[in-house]
Amino acid sequence: MDLLAFSSVKELREKIQKKELSPNEVVAYSLKRIEAHNKKLNAVIEAFDSSSMDIPVDNSTLPLAGVPGLAKDVICQKDRITSCSSKILANFVPPYDATTVKRLKDAGASFVGRTNCDEFAMGASNETSAYGPVFNPWDLTRSSGGSGGGSAASVAAGLVPWALGTETGGSVRQPACFCGIVGSKPTYGLLSRYGLIAYGSSLDAVGINTRTVYDNALLMGIMAGVDERDSTSARLKGPFDYVKGLTGKIRPGLRIGVITNAVQAKGIETGVAKALDAALEELKKLGAELVDIALPTMDYGAAVYFMVSRAEVASNLSRFDGVRYGHRTADAVDLRDMYEKTRGEGFGHEAKRRILIGNFVLSAGHADQYYESACTVRRMMRAEMMDAFKKVDLLFAPVSAAPAFKVGELGDPLQMDLQDYFTCPANLANIPAVSVPCGFVDNMPVGFQLMGPDFAEGLIFETLHAYEQATPWHTMHPKGF
Ligand code: GLN
Repeated sequence: MDLLAFSSVKELREKIQKKELSPNEVVAYSLKRIEAHNKKLNAVIEAFDSSSMDIPVDNSTLPLAGVPGLAKDVICQKDRITSCSSKILANFVPPYDATTVKRLKDAGASFVGRTNCDEFAMGASNETSAYGPVFNPWDLTRSSGGSGGGSAASVAAGLVPWALGTETGGSVRQPACFCGIVGSKPTYGLLSRYGLIAYGSSLDAVGINTRTVYDNALLMGIMAGVDERDSTSARLKGPFDYVKGLTGKIRPGLRIGVITNAVQAKGIETGVAKALDAALEELKKLGAELVDIALPTMDYGAAVYFMVSRAEVASNLSRFDGVRYGHRTADAVDLRDMYEKTRGEGFGHEAKRRILIGNFVLSAGHADQYYESACTVRRMMRAEMMDAFKKVDLLFAPVSAAPAFKVGELGDPLQMDLQDYFTCPANLANIPAVSVPCGFVDNMPVGFQLMGPDFAEGLIFETLHAYEQATPWHTMHPKGF
């Protein structure tokens, strides 16, 4: 195994600071890894030429000097195509960086490419991408998960130590779980959404894929904080030093609520249930008090998420009409014809399906029945969670009921939607959640997640770091990379 390939951000940074490696060398190395392995994975849509990057100088003291990473194809990178893995934006070149990208660049990070994802981040398998599916590095016949399959597979396969993803209903945590790495979704508003091409605006968040909890905490701290360009960004100035608390110990007296209806949910595979039990046992050994807690509204999460996300995406995608951005049909006879043909040609099947459903749930006569009632249940879910956080500090839940499925295996859209079952409640409640690997089932990684109250990222990272240090999962990497 190529050890440098699986170096963490922390290790690379130390090597760069000690001048054992230069920023140019690590970037070149990462590009070589992408070149060598991406054909198998289809994870990276475009790797950039190093001459077009602003790589920090060798004696740079910036916190991420040169450390290479990738961004999901829905996060704007200045002067780079950002296509949302959709034909309709195939040639869209944003004239600005997303704030998250900008903050990492300012810290010295090098963006070496953009990663494949489901079209406009809609999906749970990466199969709705105009560029085709991403294959799981642990078994190339299986799905990487989605929508951020490219980011997760790239990090798991050691192409880069970190990759930005986005979450609307679980698109960082589920692929991270399928690929055996760490995936985070911060509190809504902690990271700016400026430059993140919108899917569901009340749910969207930038998240991070890494191979260690430390790296995730480090990058989160660098990107967090108020952004005047995003009116929904939290008015928090920081500094956000999530790394400081990573002692390898669990906070004395920590209470973790085990969501009983989630861990005992029908359909959880036996192997996954065993891995979850073992993870709980480990957390207990580390000193956490485990408290059973039922959250009945969580069982409605997937249904509520279905309505809210479709309604919001139908509205957000209405701006892609061939007038200002991206694809425009070549043969329109009038304006209406231009809209119809442009959208007909540009959007894939899943996008069209969601636009139709979204407009239906928002339409006069149906909005009360579908959209409004979904919003009511969403508020109840958040209230129930806030109540739970009066009794416990964090909540424990599965990420997925099973390890990664085979590419093409989930033909039924309903089965695909059920992939969001355990993840979307955190998005609907706008609370933070981070997933980590906790074992293997049929040689495929599985994981669990911890959720916390608003802005409890620090506590989640501390706890998961202690768990990670006590377990071997983060040291295991797929063969052949
Ligand atoms: N699978 C979910 C969906 O298809 C989640 C996507 C996401 O978080 N971007 O909408």
